[in-house]
Amino acid sequence: MKTEFSLAQLADPKFSRSNDILRNCVHCGFCTATCPTYTELGDERDSPRGRIYMIQQMLESGEPAPSSTVTHIDRCLSCLSCMTTCPSGVHYMHLVDHARQYIEETHTRPLFDRMLRGVLGVILPRPNLFRLALVGALLARPLKLLTTGRIRAMLEMAPSRLEPPSALDGIPVHPAETSRKKRVALMTGCAQKVLAPDINDATVRFLTRHGVEVVIPKQAGCCGALPLHMGKEGGALDLARENVLAWSSELEGEGLDAIIINTSGCGTTVKDYGHLFEEDDVLSEKAKAVAGLACDITEFAVTLDLQKRAELPSLKVAYHSACSLQHGQKIKQEPKSLLSAMDFNVTDIPESHICCGSAGTYNLLQPELSGKLKNRKVKNIASTNPDIVAAGNIGCMAQIASGMDLPVVHTVQLLDWATGGPKPDQLS
Ligand code: SF4
Ligand code: SF4
Repeated sequence: MKTEFSLAQLADPKFSRSNDILRNCVHCGFCTATCPTYTELGDERDSPRGRIYMIQQMLESGEPAPSSTVTHIDRCLSCLSCMTTCPSGVHYMHLVDHARQYIEETHTRPLFDRMLRGVLGVILPRPNLFRLALVGALLARPLKLLTTGRIRAMLEMAPSRLEPPSALDGIPVHPAETSRKKRVALMTGCAQKVLAPDINDATVRFLTRHGVEVVIPKQAGCCGALPLHMGKEGGALDLARENVLAWSSELEGEGLDAIIINTSGCGTTVKDYGHLFEEDDVLSEKAKAVAGLACDITEFAVTLDLQKRAELPSLKVAYHSACSLQHGQKIKQEPKSLLSAMDFNVTDIPESHICCGSAGTYNLLQPELSGKLKNRKVKNIASTNPDIVAAGNIGCMAQIASGMDLPVVHTVQLLDWATGGPKPDQLS
């Protein structure tokens, strides 16, 4: 499409990059067919093509973001289904991230919206604060019928009980059980280690059992995706910088074969650190090296010689393909192949390309639309009549579990169980 940015605007690398992306879009509209918000709402402004047009108008104008544009950009899940569908290679992810930063810089949101986003941006990336907030949510849960909208959504998403912190927390090195074949860093993340600590525990057990030494640098934490998707680039960069420095230090020390990530939403962001630090003269090379080593746990697991060691009951597993895994990282077959190799009866879910509505903080900020997508996903899962659901992203797991009674487990918990680990608690 034709763009009309001024030369002064194009001197800004962000505008220049967005200009390149916009020019790739030919407005064919193929992407609308697979966009969850367009599918639900049927409004062109809630489609990728409509949003791309509005972003162009907003950025070219140089004016504060108009409220109508903010509404439709806020409704975007960043599920990246449009990037999978687009035949012209439009990098919607970088474009919408720039749009969100522009909105954050130029638009004044209503007070409650600002406060909520500010609080989420501070609490979610910090496990200790997040744990405290969940204790508060548990205490307030009986009052949920007195609340509406986003407050109610937050109380409903809070788990009914809090898991104790992992016994493995704070241990910096987990040696390989057999002779060491590989050495990796594990990203233990932020919200996941509070909501479901067994996912990291299962990952460590699974890797060390297969001859992989696992290091967990103390300084590494949240990947930065949560603030980034709220347009708070400064906060995201601060968190990402800590990770780049921590993992680079391991890489330059004893060396690393991979950086393992078991929350696919984080994996998509870490794999994009090269872009995030493009303008940083000091960190850009280190960030590129870190991004190049980032690996989803299933992507890494297919390189291991897995041995099934346990006789498991015959279980039909509905595999939910998280958007960040299938669209963000283009990893579709690996999780299913691994589970099938362990004799699980894996079934695909209809409309598997459509988001479950979790999308980071989306289910808290857009509860109505998120609820519609959750119901759609749950209905599609139920139609396959599975025994359990498996996914590779804690956000999706929590979203789906809040809508159905079936056990929802992480793919690596099943792989750990099949290769000699304990049965996941969710199946007890
Ligand atoms: S499919 Fe790609 S080129 Fe076509 S309208 Fe969508 S983003 Fe633009
Ligand atoms: S990221 Fe998802 S919700 Fe947003 S425009 Fe693309 S397909 Fe639609």
